[in-house]
Amino acid sequence: MLFRVLSKKEFRKFVGLLLADTEVIAPKQIGVSTDGKPIHQYLPVQAFGEIDLEYETTEYPAKTYFLPYRENLSICSFDEDDWTREIHYRLQPRVLLGLHACDINALLKLDKVLAGDRYPSPYYISRRRNTFIIGIDHDPCEGGFCQSVGADVVTHGFDLYLTDLGDRYFIAINSDRGFNALKLVAAKEPTKRDNNDYLKVRSRIASQFEPLEMHNLPNLLDIEFESDVWKRWSEKCMSCGSCSMVCPTCYCYGTTERISMNNEQGAKIKQLYSCNFLDFAAVAGGHNFRADRETRLKYRYYHQHRGFMEAYEEPLCVGCYRCGRACLAGINPPDIIRDLQTEHQE
Ligand code: SF4
Ligand code: SF4
Repeated sequence: MLFRVLSKKEFRKFVGLLLADTEVIAPKQIGVSTDGKPIHQYLPVQAFGEIDLEYETTEYPAKTYFLPYRENLSICSFDEDDWTREIHYRLQPRVLLGLHACDINALLKLDKVLAGDRYPSPYYISRRRNTFIIGIDHDPCEGGFCQSVGADVVTHGFDLYLTDLGDRYFIAINSDRGFNALKLVAAKEPTKRDNNDYLKVRSRIASQFEPLEMHNLPNLLDIEFESDVWKRWSEKCMSCGSCSMVCPTCYCYGTTERISMNNEQGAKIKQLYSCNFLDFAAVAGGHNFRADRETRLKYRYYHQHRGFMEAYEEPLCVGCYRCGRACLAGINPPDIIRDLQTEHQE
């Protein structure tokens, strides 16, 4: 990995240059919660002053810029004798600035599914290739357990990655385009002091996480498949699907085909779906393979921590805790995992 150091003044200039000719999406405060905490989202920005790099987390993940909740896969036009089909891939470059390590790790997991050999999605791949990613280190967020799932650090999947050293940023460079972009400003080779300061900041961040015991979780899940823990938690679940919608790694979707009333236009639409929805596993003929809440809730956890592990040797979950924050019933991964562990000890 190559490193450079950039003063905060030069960084501001750098972002100004990006803003001059590219769409920039960055964490922006959009309001304040009832308990007085700032609410942030990744949104397009027009000026450096709109960006808040000190943000704790965002309600929605960055996945929405790669995997929108709803998109047209194709649009068809019909006339009496013929028909045409249009398919659009996003090719315009854009910058995603200020992503935390867990959100970059989430994209790396989505890459395995949506940009891998078996089910590549050209819609996803075109957005991914045309997005310049600038990540940033941060202190642990409330409830987050990214360190316990190995998602608190990131070694690839970005172009530049910033660590705040007070008056300057220590920058890891992970691509040619990142290296070339930094030539636009006065980035310097790190000195010994810069390296020391960077390592101190990284250690300070790492020491602040509260560990969640995840050792042997896939096997524990297999052993506790029939546990009452699933029944107890699912009794509170409202099958609203919010947990999947805010999750940076949930990628299940459904497709529908619609046609206009005058039969002149049609569209194939893809929409993200939640495995907690009542009809997630409903099939033609009226059978529903997961008709009860308990099975649906359980399988979401098994996909995140068991099935993906078997397929890719890592959990799908990056420990961002967005699902825990979004769930009005108070259902969250750390509490369920601790409950399963306690059950096993009884
Ligand atoms: S957000 Fe909570 S209540 Fe809604 S589906 Fe998910 S676990 Fe159930
Ligand atoms: S399951 Fe929850 S904690 Fe894990 S990545 Fe998804 S939203 Fe974050």
